Amino acid sequence: MSKKYEVVIVGAGISGAALAYELARYTNIKSICVLEKYDGVATLNSSGKANSQTIHFGDIETNYTLAKASITKQTAKMVEKYCLQHKLENEVIFSHQKMALGVGDNEVEFMLERYEEFKELFPNLQVWDKEHLKKIEPKLVFDGNGNERPETIVGVGSKGEWTTVDYKKMSVSLIENAKKEEGKTIDLFVNSQVQDIQKEDNTYKIKTANETYEADFVVVNAGAHSLFIAHKMGYGHEYSCLPVAGSFYMTNQQILNGKVYMVQNPKLPFAALHGDPDILENGLTRFGPTALMLPKLERYKSGTYKDFWTTLRFDKKIIKIFAGLLKDGDIRNYVFKNFLFEIPYLNKKLFVKDARKIIPSLSVNDIHYAEGFGGVRPQVLNKKEEKLMLGEASINTGDGIVFNMTPSPGATSCLGNAKRDVINITKFLNKNFNLAKFEEELIETNIPQSKIDENEQKQYISKIRKEIKAHEEEYYQNINDGQELPSYWNKPYSPWRNKRDHWSF
Ligand SMILES: Cc1cc2nc3c(=O)[nH]c(=O)nc-3n(C[C@H](O)[C@H](O)[C@H](O)COP(=O)(O)OP(=O)(O)OC[C@H]3O[C@@H](n4cnc5c(N)ncnc54)[C@H](O)[C@@H]3O)c2cc1C
Repeated sequence: MSKKYEVVIVGAGISGAALAYELARYTNIKSICVLEKYDGVATLNSSGKANSQTIHFGDIETNYTLAKASITKQTAKMVEKYCLQHKLENEVIFSHQKMALGVGDNEVEFMLERYEEFKELFPNLQVWDKEHLKKIEPKLVFDGNGNERPETIVGVGSKGEWTTVDYKKMSVSLIENAKKEEGKTIDLFVNSQVQDIQKEDNTYKIKTANETYEADFVVVNAGAHSLFIAHKMGYGHEYSCLPVAGSFYMTNQQILNGKVYMVQNPKLPFAALHGDPDILENGLTRFGPTALMLPKLERYKSGTYKDFWTTLRFDKKIIKIFAGLLKDGDIRNYVFKNFLFEIPYLNKKLFVKDARKIIPSLSVNDIHYAEGFGGVRPQVLNKKEEKLMLGEASINTGDGIVFNMTPSPGATSCLGNAKRDVINITKFLNKNFNLAKFEEELIETNIPQSKIDENEQKQYISKIRKEIKAHEEEYYQNINDGQELPSYWNKPYSPWRNKRDHWSF
Protein backbone atom coordinates (compact mmCIF):
# COMPACT_ATOMS: atom_id res chain seq x y z
CA MET A 1 0.00 0.00 0.00
CA SER A 2 1.17 3.56 -0.78
CA LYS A 3 2.51 5.70 2.05
CA LYS A 4 0.34 8.80 2.45
CA TYR A 5 1.63 12.25 3.57
CA GLU A 6 0.14 15.72 3.68
CA VAL A 7 3.19 17.17 1.90
CA VAL A 8 5.85 15.45 -0.22
CA ILE A 9 9.01 17.42 -1.06
CA VAL A 10 11.10 16.22 -4.02
CA GLY A 11 14.81 16.95 -3.49
CA ALA A 12 16.87 17.15 -0.29
CA GLY A 13 19.10 20.10 -1.16
CA ILE A 14 19.06 23.24 0.98
CA SER A 15 15.67 24.31 -0.52
CA GLY A 16 13.91 21.03 0.27
CA ALA A 17 15.50 20.83 3.74
CA ALA A 18 14.50 24.42 4.61
CA LEU A 19 10.91 23.74 3.57
CA ALA A 20 10.73 20.53 5.60
CA TYR A 21 11.98 22.44 8.65
CA GLU A 22 9.54 25.33 8.32
CA LEU A 23 6.56 23.04 7.71
CA ALA A 24 7.48 20.95 10.74
CA ARG A 25 8.18 23.84 13.09
CA TYR A 26 5.76 26.58 12.10
CA THR A 27 2.63 24.81 10.80
CA ASN A 28 0.14 22.23 12.07
CA ILE A 29 0.88 19.95 9.12
CA LYS A 30 1.64 16.58 10.67
CA SER A 31 3.18 14.39 7.98
CA ILE A 32 5.95 15.42 5.60
CA CYS A 33 8.13 13.27 3.36
CA VAL A 34 11.34 14.25 1.55
CA LEU A 35 12.38 12.11 -1.43
CA GLU A 36 16.00 12.34 -2.54
CA LYS A 37 17.50 10.79 -5.67
CA TYR A 38 21.06 10.28 -4.32
CA ASP A 39 22.32 8.50 -1.21
CA GLY A 40 22.54 11.59 1.01
CA VAL A 41 21.37 15.12 1.68
CA ALA A 42 22.73 18.03 -0.42
CA THR A 43 25.15 16.21 -2.68
CA LEU A 44 24.57 18.53 -5.67
CA ASN A 45 24.56 22.35 -5.71
CA SER A 46 24.01 22.73 -1.96
CA SER A 47 27.21 20.82 -1.20
CA GLY A 48 29.97 23.03 0.23
CA LYS A 49 32.21 22.13 -2.72
CA ALA A 50 29.62 23.13 -5.32
CA ASN A 51 28.92 26.71 -4.29
CA SER A 52 30.81 29.70 -2.95
CA GLN A 53 29.68 29.21 0.68
CA THR A 54 28.62 32.87 0.90
CA ILE A 55 25.59 34.38 2.64
CA HIS A 56 24.62 37.13 0.22
CA PHE A 57 23.29 40.04 2.27
CA GLY A 58 23.51 42.62 -0.54
CA ASP A 59 26.20 44.80 1.05
CA ILE A 60 29.12 43.62 -1.11
CA GLU A 61 27.06 42.44 -4.10
CA THR A 62 27.34 45.53 -6.27
CA ASN A 63 24.69 44.29 -8.73
CA TYR A 64 22.04 44.79 -6.01
CA THR A 65 20.14 48.05 -5.78
CA LEU A 66 19.31 49.36 -2.32
CA ALA A 67 15.71 48.13 -2.67
CA LYS A 68 16.84 44.62 -3.67
CA ALA A 69 19.47 44.55 -0.91
CA SER A 70 16.90 45.42 1.78
CA ILE A 71 14.84 42.33 0.78
CA THR A 72 17.90 40.09 0.38
CA LYS A 73 19.23 41.16 3.76
CA GLN A 74 16.06 39.97 5.46
CA THR A 75 16.14 36.50 3.88
CA ALA A 76 19.91 36.20 4.41
CA LYS A 77 19.43 37.09 8.09
CA MET A 78 17.07 34.10 8.39
CA VAL A 79 20.02 31.79 7.60
CA GLU A 80 22.13 33.56 10.23
CA LYS A 81 19.34 33.48 12.83
CA TYR A 82 18.65 29.78 12.23
CA CYS A 83 22.32 28.90 12.67
CA LEU A 84 22.72 30.99 15.83
CA GLN A 85 19.48 29.68 17.34
CA HIS A 86 20.78 26.13 16.94
CA LYS A 87 24.33 27.01 18.08
CA LEU A 88 25.99 26.12 14.80
CA GLU A 89 28.75 28.75 15.03
CA ASN A 90 32.09 27.66 13.55
CA GLU A 91 30.61 24.34 12.53
CA VAL A 92 28.04 25.42 9.95
CA ILE A 93 28.28 29.22 9.97
CA PHE A 94 31.57 31.13 9.97
CA SER A 95 32.75 34.74 10.20
CA HIS A 96 35.32 36.38 7.91
CA GLN A 97 36.02 39.97 7.03
CA LYS A 98 34.43 40.78 3.67
CA MET A 99 34.55 43.51 1.08
CA ALA A 100 33.76 44.56 -2.46
CA LEU A 101 36.92 45.86 -4.07
CA GLY A 102 36.90 48.80 -6.49
CA VAL A 103 39.91 48.98 -8.83
CA GLY A 104 40.67 52.07 -10.92
CA ASP A 105 39.12 55.51 -10.67
CA ASN A 106 35.71 54.66 -12.12
CA GLU A 107 35.09 51.68 -9.87
CA VAL A 108 36.46 53.47 -6.82
CA GLU A 109 34.12 56.43 -7.34
CA PHE A 110 31.24 53.98 -7.87
CA MET A 111 32.08 52.17 -4.61
CA LEU A 112 32.28 55.41 -2.63
CA GLU A 113 28.89 56.54 -3.90
CA ARG A 114 27.46 53.11 -3.19
CA TYR A 115 28.81 53.27 0.35
CA GLU A 116 26.98 56.58 0.97
CA GLU A 117 23.75 55.02 -0.31
CA PHE A 118 24.06 51.69 1.55
CA LYS A 119 25.57 52.67 4.92
CA GLU A 120 22.20 53.15 6.62
CA LEU A 121 20.96 49.68 5.64
CA PHE A 122 24.35 48.17 6.56
CA PRO A 123 25.55 50.19 9.56
CA ASN A 124 28.77 48.17 9.91
CA LEU A 125 30.02 48.97 6.39
CA GLN A 126 33.44 50.63 6.31
CA VAL A 127 35.60 52.24 3.66
CA TRP A 128 39.16 50.92 3.52
CA ASP A 129 41.79 52.84 1.58
CA LYS A 130 45.07 51.43 0.26
CA GLU A 131 46.90 52.09 3.54
CA HIS A 132 44.29 50.24 5.57
CA LEU A 133 44.13 47.40 3.03
CA LYS A 134 47.89 46.96 3.44
CA LYS A 135 47.18 45.96 7.04
CA ILE A 136 44.10 43.79 6.67
CA GLU A 137 44.48 42.27 3.17
CA PRO A 138 48.03 43.08 1.97
CA LYS A 139 47.92 40.82 -1.10
CA LEU A 140 45.41 43.22 -2.67
CA VAL A 141 47.96 46.01 -2.69
CA PHE A 142 51.38 44.66 -3.70
CA ASP A 143 52.57 43.16 -6.98
CA GLY A 144 55.03 40.26 -7.42
CA ASN A 145 58.02 42.58 -6.91
CA GLY A 146 56.65 43.96 -3.67
CA ASN A 147 55.67 47.28 -5.30
CA GLU A 148 52.34 48.96 -4.67
CA ARG A 149 49.86 48.55 -7.51
CA PRO A 150 49.55 51.85 -9.41
CA GLU A 151 45.76 52.11 -9.59
CA THR A 152 43.57 53.67 -6.95
CA ILE A 153 41.72 50.96 -5.03
CA VAL A 154 39.12 50.90 -2.30
CA GLY A 155 37.57 48.15 -0.20
CA VAL A 156 34.05 48.66 1.13
CA GLY A 157 33.15 45.95 3.59
CA SER A 158 32.79 44.89 7.18
CA LYS A 159 34.34 42.82 9.93
CA GLY A 160 32.82 40.60 12.60
CA GLU A 161 29.73 39.57 10.61
CA TRP A 162 28.59 36.03 9.77
CA THR A 163 29.56 35.58 6.15
CA THR A 164 30.05 31.93 5.28
CA VAL A 165 27.94 28.78 5.49
CA ASP A 166 28.46 25.09 4.80
CA TYR A 167 25.06 24.67 3.15
CA LYS A 168 25.34 20.87 3.13
CA LYS A 169 25.77 20.76 6.89
CA MET A 170 22.96 23.28 7.24
CA SER A 171 20.69 21.02 5.11
CA VAL A 172 21.47 18.06 7.37
CA SER A 173 20.77 20.18 10.47
CA LEU A 174 17.44 21.46 9.05
CA ILE A 175 16.19 17.93 8.45
CA GLU A 176 17.42 16.67 11.84
CA ASN A 177 15.69 19.57 13.61
CA ALA A 178 12.49 19.04 11.59
CA LYS A 179 12.47 15.43 12.82
CA LYS A 180 12.73 16.62 16.43
CA GLU A 181 9.36 18.42 16.28
CA GLU A 182 6.93 16.54 18.52
CA GLY A 183 3.81 14.90 17.14
CA LYS A 184 5.07 15.06 13.55
CA THR A 185 6.11 12.42 11.04
CA ILE A 186 9.08 13.64 9.02
CA ASP A 187 10.45 10.94 6.72
CA LEU A 188 13.50 11.27 4.49
CA PHE A 189 14.02 8.58 1.85
CA VAL A 190 17.33 8.64 -0.01
CA ASN A 191 18.09 6.66 -3.18
CA SER A 192 14.52 7.53 -4.15
CA GLN A 193 14.48 9.20 -7.54
CA VAL A 194 11.03 10.47 -8.41
CA GLN A 195 10.14 9.14 -11.84
CA ASP A 196 6.55 10.17 -12.22
CA ILE A 197 3.93 12.35 -10.50
CA GLN A 198 0.24 12.11 -11.30
CA LYS A 199 -2.89 13.58 -9.75
CA GLU A 200 -5.85 11.29 -9.12
CA ASP A 201 -8.93 12.40 -7.15
CA ASN A 202 -7.20 15.32 -5.41
CA THR A 203 -4.27 13.10 -4.36
CA TYR A 204 -0.83 13.17 -5.93
CA LYS A 205 0.81 9.80 -6.60
CA ILE A 206 4.58 10.13 -6.61
CA LYS A 207 6.41 7.15 -8.07
CA THR A 208 9.99 6.07 -7.44
CA ALA A 209 11.53 2.83 -8.74
CA ASN A 210 10.32 0.80 -5.73
CA GLU A 211 7.52 2.78 -4.07
CA THR A 212 4.52 4.97 -4.68
CA TYR A 213 3.90 7.78 -2.20
CA GLU A 214 0.72 9.82 -1.90
CA ALA A 215 0.39 13.48 -0.97
CA ASP A 216 -2.15 16.30 -0.74
CA PHE A 217 0.53 18.80 -1.80
CA VAL A 218 3.85 18.40 -3.63
CA VAL A 219 6.79 20.80 -3.81
CA VAL A 220 9.47 19.96 -6.36
CA ASN A 221 12.79 21.40 -5.14
CA ALA A 222 14.90 19.30 -7.51
CA GLY A 223 17.26 22.04 -8.75
CA ALA A 224 17.67 21.88 -12.53
CA HIS A 225 15.36 18.84 -12.62
CA SER A 226 12.39 20.82 -11.25
CA LEU A 227 11.63 22.14 -14.72
CA PHE A 228 12.27 18.69 -16.24
CA ILE A 229 9.54 17.25 -13.96
CA ALA A 230 7.23 20.25 -14.56
CA HIS A 231 7.46 19.81 -18.34
CA LYS A 232 6.73 16.10 -18.00
CA MET A 233 3.54 17.00 -16.14
CA GLY A 234 2.54 19.61 -18.72
CA TYR A 235 3.54 22.72 -16.73
CA GLY A 236 5.97 25.57 -17.44
CA HIS A 237 6.35 25.03 -21.18
CA GLU A 238 7.04 28.75 -21.55
CA TYR A 239 10.31 28.17 -19.66
CA SER A 240 13.56 26.44 -20.60
CA CYS A 241 16.56 25.62 -18.45
CA LEU A 242 20.07 26.74 -19.34
CA PRO A 243 22.55 24.96 -17.05
CA VAL A 244 25.50 27.27 -16.36
CA ALA A 245 28.34 25.39 -14.69
CA GLY A 246 30.66 27.22 -12.32
CA SER A 247 34.23 26.03 -11.69
CA PHE A 248 36.83 27.22 -9.21
CA TYR A 249 40.60 27.55 -8.84
CA MET A 250 42.30 26.89 -5.51
CA THR A 251 45.53 28.45 -4.29
CA ASN A 252 48.26 26.27 -2.85
CA GLN A 253 48.32 28.33 0.34
CA GLN A 254 46.08 30.80 2.14
CA ILE A 255 46.51 34.21 0.53
CA LEU A 256 43.33 36.07 1.51
CA ASN A 257 42.10 36.68 5.04
CA GLY A 258 38.49 37.21 4.03
CA LYS A 259 36.02 37.45 1.18
CA VAL A 260 36.96 39.79 -1.64
CA TYR A 261 34.22 40.39 -4.19
CA MET A 262 34.60 42.69 -7.21
CA VAL A 263 32.47 45.36 -8.84
CA GLN A 264 29.93 43.47 -10.97
CA ASN A 265 29.06 44.32 -14.52
CA PRO A 266 25.29 44.96 -14.22
CA LYS A 267 24.67 42.97 -17.42
CA LEU A 268 26.35 39.93 -15.84
CA PRO A 269 25.33 39.73 -12.19
CA PHE A 270 27.48 37.40 -10.08
CA ALA A 271 29.90 37.02 -13.02
CA ALA A 272 32.85 38.93 -11.57
CA LEU A 273 35.35 36.63 -9.90
CA HIS A 274 35.83 36.63 -6.17
CA GLY A 275 38.37 35.07 -3.84
CA ASP A 276 37.83 33.84 -0.28
CA PRO A 277 38.97 31.31 2.32
CA ASP A 278 37.45 27.87 1.72
CA ILE A 279 35.98 26.46 4.94
CA LEU A 280 36.39 22.89 3.67
CA GLU A 281 40.05 23.32 2.67
CA ASN A 282 41.52 24.85 5.84
CA GLY A 283 41.19 28.40 4.56
CA LEU A 284 43.04 27.95 1.26
CA THR A 285 41.88 30.70 -1.08
CA ARG A 286 39.25 29.66 -3.64
CA PHE A 287 38.79 31.86 -6.73
CA GLY A 288 35.81 31.72 -9.05
CA PRO A 289 33.28 30.82 -10.10
CA THR A 290 33.62 30.69 -13.86
CA ALA A 291 30.50 30.30 -15.99
CA LEU A 292 30.17 27.76 -18.78
CA MET A 293 27.04 26.46 -20.44
CA LEU A 294 27.02 22.65 -20.03
CA PRO A 295 24.74 20.28 -21.97
CA LYS A 296 23.80 18.38 -18.79
CA LEU A 297 21.79 19.16 -15.65
CA GLU A 298 24.16 17.84 -12.96
CA ARG A 299 27.88 18.40 -12.42
CA TYR A 300 30.19 15.48 -11.58
CA LYS A 301 27.38 12.94 -12.01
CA SER A 302 26.97 10.64 -14.95
CA GLY A 303 24.18 11.15 -17.49
CA THR A 304 21.55 13.93 -17.56
CA TYR A 305 22.57 14.94 -21.13
CA LYS A 306 19.19 13.79 -22.46
CA ASP A 307 17.41 15.57 -19.59
CA PHE A 308 19.19 18.78 -20.67
CA TRP A 309 17.83 18.59 -24.23
CA THR A 310 14.35 17.70 -22.98
CA THR A 311 14.32 20.69 -20.61
CA LEU A 312 15.86 23.11 -23.11
CA ARG A 313 12.94 22.56 -25.57
CA PHE A 314 15.12 23.91 -28.34
CA ASP A 315 13.27 26.01 -30.93
CA LYS A 316 13.40 29.35 -32.79
CA LYS A 317 12.71 31.30 -29.60
CA ILE A 318 15.76 29.80 -27.89
CA ILE A 319 17.89 30.76 -30.91
CA LYS A 320 16.47 34.30 -30.66
CA ILE A 321 17.30 34.54 -26.93
CA PHE A 322 20.88 33.31 -27.54
CA ALA A 323 21.35 35.61 -30.52
CA GLY A 324 20.11 38.56 -28.44
CA LEU A 325 22.53 37.72 -25.62
CA LEU A 326 25.51 37.22 -27.92
CA LYS A 327 24.86 40.53 -29.70
CA ASP A 328 26.17 42.29 -26.61
CA GLY A 329 29.97 42.61 -26.70
CA ASP A 330 30.42 42.23 -22.94
CA ILE A 331 28.34 39.06 -22.81
CA ARG A 332 30.02 37.62 -25.93
CA ASN A 333 33.49 38.19 -24.53
CA TYR A 334 32.47 36.77 -21.18
CA VAL A 335 31.04 33.58 -22.74
CA PHE A 336 34.13 33.10 -24.92
CA LYS A 337 36.55 33.74 -22.07
CA ASN A 338 34.75 31.31 -19.78
CA PHE A 339 34.92 28.65 -22.47
CA LEU A 340 38.71 29.13 -22.57
CA PHE A 341 38.86 28.84 -18.76
CA GLU A 342 37.98 25.14 -19.13
CA ILE A 343 40.72 24.31 -21.67
CA PRO A 344 43.70 22.62 -19.98
CA TYR A 345 47.04 24.54 -20.04
CA LEU A 346 45.44 27.69 -21.45
CA ASN A 347 42.90 27.96 -18.64
CA LYS A 348 45.29 28.69 -15.77
CA LYS A 349 47.14 31.41 -17.66
CA LEU A 350 43.97 33.19 -18.66
CA PHE A 351 42.38 32.80 -15.27
CA VAL A 352 45.40 34.21 -13.47
CA LYS A 353 45.31 37.22 -15.76
CA ASP A 354 41.77 37.97 -14.60
CA ALA A 355 42.38 37.12 -10.96
CA ARG A 356 45.32 39.57 -10.88
CA LYS A 357 42.73 42.30 -10.72
CA ILE A 358 42.23 41.06 -7.13
CA ILE A 359 45.78 39.86 -6.31
CA PRO A 360 48.37 41.62 -8.54
CA SER A 361 51.14 39.20 -7.50
CA LEU A 362 49.23 36.01 -8.39
CA SER A 363 51.15 33.63 -10.64
CA VAL A 364 50.26 30.44 -12.51
CA ASN A 365 52.22 28.44 -9.92
CA ASP A 366 50.04 29.74 -7.09
CA ILE A 367 46.83 28.08 -8.26
CA HIS A 368 45.37 24.84 -9.54
CA TYR A 369 42.04 23.93 -11.12
CA ALA A 370 39.83 22.81 -8.23
CA GLU A 371 38.82 19.38 -9.49
CA GLY A 372 35.55 18.19 -7.98
CA PHE A 373 34.50 21.72 -6.99
CA GLY A 374 31.69 23.66 -8.65
CA GLY A 375 28.09 23.08 -9.58
CA VAL A 376 25.40 24.05 -12.03
CA ARG A 377 23.22 27.16 -11.91
CA PRO A 378 19.88 26.31 -13.53
CA GLN A 379 19.26 29.65 -15.27
CA VAL A 380 15.73 29.97 -16.60
CA LEU A 381 14.91 31.19 -20.12
CA ASN A 382 11.52 32.82 -20.50
CA LYS A 383 10.36 31.99 -24.02
CA LYS A 384 7.27 34.20 -23.87
CA GLU A 385 9.31 37.29 -23.04
CA GLU A 386 12.28 35.96 -25.03
CA LYS A 387 14.80 36.67 -22.31
CA LEU A 388 17.14 35.10 -19.80
CA MET A 389 15.74 35.36 -16.26
CA LEU A 390 18.57 36.15 -13.90
CA GLY A 391 16.95 35.21 -10.59
CA GLU A 392 15.01 32.33 -9.15
CA ALA A 393 11.78 31.02 -10.66
CA SER A 394 8.83 29.29 -9.04
CA ILE A 395 5.88 27.78 -10.88
CA ASN A 396 2.88 27.64 -8.58
CA THR A 397 0.22 25.74 -10.51
CA GLY A 398 -2.50 26.63 -7.97
CA ASP A 399 -3.42 22.94 -8.06
CA GLY A 400 -1.39 21.66 -5.11
CA ILE A 401 2.00 21.36 -6.81
CA VAL A 402 4.87 23.87 -6.99
CA PHE A 403 8.16 23.68 -8.94
CA ASN A 404 11.16 25.75 -7.79
CA MET A 405 14.33 26.60 -9.79
CA THR A 406 17.08 28.13 -7.70
CA PRO A 407 20.20 29.55 -9.34
CA SER A 408 22.55 31.71 -7.27
CA PRO A 409 21.99 32.92 -4.57
CA GLY A 410 19.38 30.26 -3.90
CA ALA A 411 21.11 28.87 -0.83
CA THR A 412 20.99 32.26 0.92
CA SER A 413 17.28 32.61 0.15
CA CYS A 414 16.33 29.02 1.18
CA LEU A 415 14.37 30.02 4.29
CA GLY A 416 12.75 33.01 2.53
CA ASN A 417 11.65 30.84 -0.41
CA ALA A 418 10.40 28.19 1.99
CA LYS A 419 8.27 30.82 3.78
CA ARG A 420 6.62 31.72 0.44
CA ASP A 421 5.81 28.02 -0.13
CA VAL A 422 4.61 27.50 3.46
CA ILE A 423 2.09 30.34 3.00
CA ASN A 424 0.79 28.77 -0.23
CA ILE A 425 0.70 25.22 1.16
CA THR A 426 -1.14 26.14 4.39
CA LYS A 427 -3.67 28.19 2.42
CA PHE A 428 -4.29 25.37 -0.04
CA LEU A 429 -4.61 22.68 2.66
CA ASN A 430 -6.53 24.93 5.05
CA LYS A 431 -3.83 24.60 7.74
CA ASN A 432 -2.23 27.15 10.08
CA PHE A 433 1.07 28.96 9.73
CA ASN A 434 2.37 30.29 13.05
CA LEU A 435 3.70 33.56 11.63
CA ALA A 436 4.34 35.08 15.08
CA LYS A 437 6.67 32.20 16.03
CA PHE A 438 8.35 32.34 12.61
CA GLU A 439 9.00 36.08 12.95
CA GLU A 440 10.19 35.78 16.53
CA GLU A 441 12.73 33.11 15.57
CA LEU A 442 13.83 34.00 12.06
CA ILE A 443 13.20 37.68 11.38
CA GLU A 444 15.87 40.20 12.37
CA THR A 445 14.36 42.99 14.43
CA ASN A 446 17.36 43.92 16.50
CA ILE A 447 19.22 46.03 13.90
CA PRO A 448 22.80 46.50 15.14
CA GLN A 449 23.91 50.04 15.86
CA SER A 450 26.88 51.26 13.88
CA LYS A 451 30.21 51.11 15.66
CA ILE A 452 31.89 52.97 12.82
CA ASP A 453 33.46 56.38 13.38
CA GLU A 454 31.71 58.60 10.77
CA ASN A 455 34.39 61.29 10.84
CA GLU A 456 37.15 58.80 10.19
CA GLN A 457 35.14 57.41 7.23
CA LYS A 458 34.65 60.94 5.81
CA GLN A 459 38.39 61.52 6.02
CA TYR A 460 39.08 58.25 4.15
CA ILE A 461 36.59 59.18 1.45
CA SER A 462 37.94 62.68 0.91
CA LYS A 463 41.50 61.30 0.79
CA ILE A 464 40.54 58.73 -1.84
CA ARG A 465 38.64 61.32 -3.88
CA LYS A 466 41.68 63.61 -3.82
CA GLU A 467 43.75 60.70 -5.11
CA ILE A 468 41.28 60.16 -7.98
CA LYS A 469 41.38 63.88 -8.83
CA ALA A 470 45.17 63.85 -8.92
CA HIS A 471 45.04 60.73 -11.04
CA GLU A 472 42.63 62.34 -13.51
CA GLU A 473 44.77 65.47 -13.75
CA GLU A 474 47.77 63.28 -14.48
CA TYR A 475 45.67 61.43 -17.04
CA TYR A 476 44.67 64.60 -18.91
CA GLN A 477 48.25 65.76 -18.72
CA ASN A 478 49.35 62.48 -20.29
CA ILE A 479 46.63 62.60 -22.98
CA ASN A 480 48.16 65.93 -24.04
CA ASP A 481 51.50 64.14 -24.25
CA GLY A 482 49.89 61.44 -26.42
CA GLN A 483 49.86 58.75 -23.67
CA GLU A 484 47.15 57.36 -21.48
CA LEU A 485 47.11 55.87 -18.01
CA PRO A 486 45.94 52.29 -18.49
CA SER A 487 44.17 52.15 -15.17
CA TYR A 488 41.83 54.94 -16.22
CA TRP A 489 40.22 52.52 -18.66
CA ASN A 490 39.72 49.76 -16.15
CA LYS A 491 36.17 48.54 -16.25
CA PRO A 492 35.23 45.02 -15.27
CA TYR A 493 35.24 42.53 -18.14
CA SER A 494 35.43 45.06 -20.95
CA PRO A 495 39.04 45.02 -22.09
CA TRP A 496 38.28 44.98 -25.80
CA ARG A 497 35.48 47.50 -25.59
CA ASN A 498 37.70 49.71 -23.50
CA LYS A 499 40.32 49.63 -26.18
CA ARG A 500 37.71 50.55 -28.76
CA ASP A 501 36.50 53.43 -26.55
CA HIS A 502 40.04 54.61 -26.37
CA TRP A 503 40.64 54.37 -30.11
CA SER A 504 37.58 56.45 -30.85
CA PHE A 505 38.45 59.03 -28.22
C1 LIG B 1 29.25 27.81 -8.71
C2 LIG B 1 28.11 28.15 -7.80
C3 LIG B 1 28.31 29.05 -6.75
C4 LIG B 1 27.24 29.39 -5.91
N1 LIG B 1 27.48 30.18 -4.83
C5 LIG B 1 26.46 30.48 -3.98
C6 LIG B 1 26.71 31.24 -2.80
O1 LIG B 1 27.84 31.59 -2.48
N2 LIG B 1 25.66 31.55 -2.02
C7 LIG B 1 24.38 31.16 -2.33
O2 LIG B 1 23.46 31.52 -1.59
N3 LIG B 1 24.12 30.40 -3.42
C8 LIG B 1 25.13 30.03 -4.23
N4 LIG B 1 24.90 29.23 -5.32
C9 LIG B 1 23.54 28.75 -5.57
C10 LIG B 1 23.15 27.62 -4.62
O3 LIG B 1 24.18 26.66 -4.55
C11 LIG B 1 21.86 26.98 -5.10
O4 LIG B 1 20.91 28.00 -5.36
C12 LIG B 1 21.27 26.03 -4.07
O5 LIG B 1 22.22 25.10 -3.63
C13 LIG B 1 20.07 25.33 -4.66
O6 LIG B 1 19.56 24.43 -3.71
P1 LIG B 1 18.40 23.45 -4.12
O7 LIG B 1 18.09 22.65 -2.92
O8 LIG B 1 17.29 24.22 -4.72
O9 LIG B 1 19.01 22.56 -5.30
P2 LIG B 1 20.12 21.41 -5.22
O10 LIG B 1 21.12 21.67 -4.18
O11 LIG B 1 20.60 21.23 -6.60
O12 LIG B 1 19.29 20.16 -4.75
C14 LIG B 1 18.33 19.53 -5.57
C15 LIG B 1 18.15 18.12 -5.03
O13 LIG B 1 17.11 17.48 -5.75
C16 LIG B 1 17.50 16.14 -5.98
N5 LIG B 1 16.75 15.62 -7.13
C17 LIG B 1 16.85 15.99 -8.43
N6 LIG B 1 15.99 15.28 -9.17
C18 LIG B 1 15.32 14.46 -8.33
C19 LIG B 1 14.33 13.47 -8.50
N7 LIG B 1 13.81 13.20 -9.70
N8 LIG B 1 13.89 12.79 -7.42
C20 LIG B 1 14.40 13.05 -6.19
N9 LIG B 1 15.35 13.97 -5.97
C21 LIG B 1 15.80 14.67 -7.02
C22 LIG B 1 18.99 16.24 -6.24
O14 LIG B 1 19.63 15.00 -6.09
C23 LIG B 1 19.40 17.27 -5.21
O15 LIG B 1 19.75 16.69 -3.98
C24 LIG B 1 25.95 28.84 -6.15
C25 LIG B 1 25.76 27.93 -7.19
C26 LIG B 1 26.82 27.57 -8.00
C27 LIG B 1 26.62 26.55 -9.07
